[in-house]
Amino acid sequence: MNILLVEDEPSIANVISKGLGEAGYKVSIAPDGNIGFQMAVTHTYDLYILDIMLPGINGLELCRMLRKAKDNRPILLLTALGTTDNIVTGLEKGADDYLIKPFKFAELLARIRALLRRNSENFTEDKILRLAGLELDPDAKTVKRENTAINLTSTEYRMLEYFMKNQRRVISRMDLLEHVWGVDFNMATNVVDVYVNYLRKKIDKDFEQKLIHTVIGMGYILKDS
Ligand code: CA
Repeated sequence: MNILLVEDEPSIANVISKGLGEAGYKVSIAPDGNIGFQMAVTHTYDLYILDIMLPGINGLELCRMLRKAKDNRPILLLTALGTTDNIVTGLEKGADDYLIKPFKFAELLARIRALLRRNSENFTEDKILRLAGLELDPDAKTVKRENTAINLTSTEYRMLEYFMKNQRRVISRMDLLEHVWGVDFNMATNVVDVYVNYLRKKIDKDFEQKLIHTVIGMGYILKDS
């Protein structure tokens, strides 16, 4: 499980990161809202922990931006004592839960577990991933577009599943290498381009509306508009 922690106070960030690391979570730290947003759109996290008081984009604004970018992953806000207005605003902007500083680490861990559990339950209600007539069924490992079955190789399938789970987000070639092939940075990234083209031939070529788009200098994005 990957967690993005956006927190500008290094001592707090380190304590949270160390504790969550010991609990088995992989934590990435962003020191401000701008970096946090960039990391959120270029990587995949299972949960966000956002401090509200941040330099630049604050945690509430970041929360709003993530939801606007159709990112539905759980968001836990951290707020200072006595600022309950912030909490109400945060929940209105799409946050799922909050904790008031200072908090006990066990409390943070319990909230995170509850959010992740709730999220996976929501996810199992309807597992089929959809975008503009394209459907991927992770149980049956089948793909359809406009109700026509599309045969994919296992690599193409894994790539499409990753795109579908991260639709409307820019995905870097490194991210694809890591998640589709499970390798870290030592393979030529042009392999990714080759496979993206295979996938385009199968899911996009015969349809007017293209779903896989190249983002120059950054990678690819799966979207319908
Ligand atoms: Ca802060």
